[in-house]
Amino acid sequence: MDRVYNFSPGPSMLALPVLEKAQKDLVAYGSTGMSVMEMSHRSKMYTDIYDKTVADVRELMNIPEDYEVIFLQGGATQQFSAVPLNLMVNGKADYIDSGNFAHLAAEEAKRYGEVNVVASSRDDVYTYVPDLAGIKFDDDADYVHITTNNTIYGTRYVELPVTKAPLVADTSSMILSEELDVTKFGVIYAGAQKNIGPSGLCLLIVRKDLLGRAKDICPKLLNWEVQAKAGSMYNTPNTWGIYLAGLTFEWLKSIGGVKAIEKVNIEKAAMLYDFLDNSKLFKPTAQPKYRSRMNVTFVTGDADKDAAFVKAAAAEGLVNLKGHRSVGGMRASIYNAMPVEGVQKLIAFMKKFETENA
Ligand SMILES: *Cc1c(COP(=O)(O)O)cnc(C)c1O
Repeated sequence: MDRVYNFSPGPSMLALPVLEKAQKDLVAYGSTGMSVMEMSHRSKMYTDIYDKTVADVRELMNIPEDYEVIFLQGGATQQFSAVPLNLMVNGKADYIDSGNFAHLAAEEAKRYGEVNVVASSRDDVYTYVPDLAGIKFDDDADYVHITTNNTIYGTRYVELPVTKAPLVADTSSMILSEELDVTKFGVIYAGAQKNIGPSGLCLLIVRKDLLGRAKDICPKLLNWEVQAKAGSMYNTPNTWGIYLAGLTFEWLKSIGGVKAIEKVNIEKAAMLYDFLDNSKLFKPTAQPKYRSRMNVTFVTGDADKDAAFVKAAAAEGLVNLKGHRSVGGMRASIYNAMPVEGVQKLIAFMKKFETENA
């Protein structure tokens, strides 16, 4: 069967070479005589895979030696709890509320300490990210939490705030899509199902001096120091998920790394926004200054037309274009694995739909 162009926000498309490699080695990996899924996580054959995966992401993101790289379970959402449990030593943190996931992260952190929402665009349905230039951050906060790309609303932070407290970033829907200066962060985390691999997995990058601060009540499995010491294997990790992440990192390296994919991502997003800005039928919903390169949100202004468009697009092999249930309209998620041709095909179809429905 032919593959479709899948614009899903997550789980989302994986690069075809990744799937083909996994398929080829599914039953017997290399000369091991077994599937990666069947390997002991403590065996050399598996730890070789794990070590290479960590080394490749270190190389791709230029992660300095004073940062640990850990793979955890429970997706990004688990870290909404793990962040305060690991870092709230003084019992307070600043949160930037720029979208639904940012909001959920702040709400969860309230269980463990004082949460100060220093900026929010919630009242404006998150059509922009709050400007952080004039924001007064608490210098004594244990950390400042930011969501760098807002998956549901299609917005992103172009500039990072300068804070005295360590910056903790949920980068789930933009990690590896553009160059990031890791040294600006205390912690970077990302659920895997957008730009890394299958769901249920989370990549966490943490500056070493932030380890060892966990609250007593922090479950061992969520304790970053414990997991760092155990090489992400305090218990049995998601071995298959980590393997697929490794294949994605290999693929990304083979096409020129983050710098190269960033160029492609800028091109894909520009093509789509350019069409939307000039369309007589479709309107982009995020404010231009804060437009995401990964999640492009748009509407026709007529819910019936939106639904007709989503349905007609799917019939053309352009699937999962329906917007999040909380905002409606459409969203095209164009992560790293979405080829330029997918976006071109989408635009061509939108033009046709426009001519027939404007
Ligand atoms: C997808 C997403 C999440 C949730 O990830 P899970 O793996 O489902 O927990 C959190 N934050 C952001 C920014 C996301 O895009």
